[in-house]
Amino acid sequence: MQDFKSYTLERKPTRGQIGRRILYAAILLLLLVAGLLYFSTSIDNSPVDERLPAPEQIEKPDQKRVLPLQLPGQSKREPIAPSPSPKSISFIKQAVATENEPTIEADTPVVAEMQEQGPEFHTLTYEIKNGDSLATIFKKHDLSANLLHRIVHSSDTAKKLTDIRPGEVLYVDLDHEQNFLGLRLEQSKINSLKITAVDDGFESVELSREVEVRTNHISGTIESSFYGAAKEAGLSEKLIMQMAGIFGWDIDFALEIRSGDQFTVIFEEDYLDGEKLRDGPILAAEFVNRGRPYRALLYSDDTGRSDYYSPDGRSMRKAFLRAPVDFRRISSRFARERYHPVLGKKRPHRGVDYAAKTGTPVKAAGDGKIIHRGKKGGYGRTVIIKHGQTYTTLYGHLSRYNKKAKRGSKVKQGQTIGYVGSSGLATGPHLHYEFRVNGVHRNPLTVKLPAAKPIAKKYRDDFQLKIQPLLSQLELINRTLVANAE
Ligand SMILES: [Zn+2]
Repeated sequence: MQDFKSYTLERKPTRGQIGRRILYAAILLLLLVAGLLYFSTSIDNSPVDERLPAPEQIEKPDQKRVLPLQLPGQSKREPIAPSPSPKSISFIKQAVATENEPTIEADTPVVAEMQEQGPEFHTLTYEIKNGDSLATIFKKHDLSANLLHRIVHSSDTAKKLTDIRPGEVLYVDLDHEQNFLGLRLEQSKINSLKITAVDDGFESVELSREVEVRTNHISGTIESSFYGAAKEAGLSEKLIMQMAGIFGWDIDFALEIRSGDQFTVIFEEDYLDGEKLRDGPILAAEFVNRGRPYRALLYSDDTGRSDYYSPDGRSMRKAFLRAPVDFRRISSRFARERYHPVLGKKRPHRGVDYAAKTGTPVKAAGDGKIIHRGKKGGYGRTVIIKHGQTYTTLYGHLSRYNKKAKRGSKVKQGQTIGYVGSSGLATGPHLHYEFRVNGVHRNPLTVKLPAAKPIAKKYRDDFQLKIQPLLSQLELINRTLVANAE
């Protein structure tokens, strides 16, 4: 009883407690009223509120007013929310734009505010077609040639307007009296050129949207073919070809692949507005062929030259391609003596003939310098490349040359130097290819090819530093794969 009494006494509020409760209730009511008032005013003035710049588009003092509006046909800009692919962990290498820093957005229409101001402002939208010129487009839309002349000659940036290409989109903004207010040439999803009419002429600016680069990785196990397994794992054709190119020097993808071979690829992906635009390069890859692991890492030196190297800095490439053309078959091999089909006599065949369609690109087998380009007797149209002091390669019976590959030009391995043909003494289209070591003809099919240059001494430390995170990631992926398999 005593307990009950004391309990009820405690539950009974004192005068002070009642006063505090009234005060709380009053504050709550006040907040509610304030909230309601706020909402009602913002509904009333919604057009004004929409004009307020979004946080990422706050004006710079020297920047014109920009409104977060869209031109017709533009997709709404979504906030970038990195969504990791369920297959693998994606992580962002580079943030798009820092939130606090106002940036000029390429997709912000020049004259969007005009559309907002009323129906008397309108935008012409025109997709550039083959054969179009700005002059014809202006004429088509009753815009004066004089206006175009003044725009184009207003600055070097504006001059770039003359270089329009099919597929680009032109937006022209006009007021109700058809006066020119501004234009925007959308050159690609990333780049555009913007011209705005100002009091004393035109302002021009080139805009470039930030591409977000993410890193992704894909692994797979081969059952029958690398292509099939890579496709199934979600690798694009482009990346499959890149993989084959990187490891093709060590592994014969047609003959040496076995069931159970494994691969892992770490690669870049470019994103625009949170949507994938394209695959970037492979940063690191591993291929386990018949239990033997091969690893390749991308390294770019400070001259901008990039290549794939093994973790110890050796090049993944050989200095020469085994065959400088995608051929259908080998029509004649290297031989001391063979019956010449055209001459009808016995002659040594000092190269390899690769039968291929006329026009098939012929590639430089290795880095070097073109020392001959022209007709050379029975070889017809011929290119000879000198690779350092020891090696030369010869490409005969070409139908034509690559314009860029002139006598004296430096060429890179894989660069097209000409096209298959049957010039000179030839019965059908083929490439006659010779490989000489210190002036002596060697069999291109069997000669031991030297490795391409390893990482230069001066880049070795930098290389080791840069590849460590990629190697760690490959290890991590392998451990995860093993753990998942168990
Ligand atoms: Zn030949």
